[in-house]
Amino acid sequence: MSSLHESGANGFYLTFARNRELAQVNDFFLERGWNVCRGRNDILVPTMFQAVFGCGDERYIEGEVPDDHRYGPSFFGGTVGIATLRCEPTHKGIRRAAVDISNAGFRPGMHGDIDHQELGCGFNRLLTQGHFGELAGRPDIDLKQAKKALQEMGGSYVDLKGLHTADKLNFNLVPGTTTLSDGKAFGVDAWFPLILGIEQYRLLEFTAATVEALKPDAKNVTIYV
Ligand SMILES: [Zn+2]
Repeated sequence: MSSLHESGANGFYLTFARNRELAQVNDFFLERGWNVCRGRNDILVPTMFQAVFGCGDERYIEGEVPDDHRYGPSFFGGTVGIATLRCEPTHKGIRRAAVDISNAGFRPGMHGDIDHQELGCGFNRLLTQGHFGELAGRPDIDLKQAKKALQEMGGSYVDLKGLHTADKLNFNLVPGTTTLSDGKAFGVDAWFPLILGIEQYRLLEFTAATVEALKPDAKNVTIYV
């Protein structure tokens, strides 16, 4: 593996703070038994104002969802995920998360899929079934109600299509950017939860636990920093 200090393929040097951030994320996944590599930032695209903050699900594919659902940042569960990261997996927590996502310039989103409706979001299914245990506390969420509340607040709900096909995770720490899904990678834009004040260890724990449960063979992470 190359030195963290070299400019490398991305063509720029990281500051000391970014190097630490990269090293922490790198070590977390390695210690959990994942394959880890550093990505080339030229696949990142700028996020768009008023685009939807959605889930890290890889099925946000071109042509399958409106474009504005592809150009917002993502974390598993979308708005429900933010509430959960904040130790507030409740309807009040979802409303608070929606307000903060809107204030940050995006539309709060969540999704299901055509076959399972609201339970088609793997994160939200795992959450409401108690999969995350103590990490999530005691979720008190009815997903149909959450969907309705979100839509009343100007948020977005979409049903995705098909089965999970990702064999890796894109973990993006570059503020103001996202990755466009090609169906082969889950996408977490870690910078967004972090600017909302979420603790890094919770972000990492939930990210890894979600991928490991949904797609155990996708324990390959590419880090963008
Ligand atoms: Zn989802």
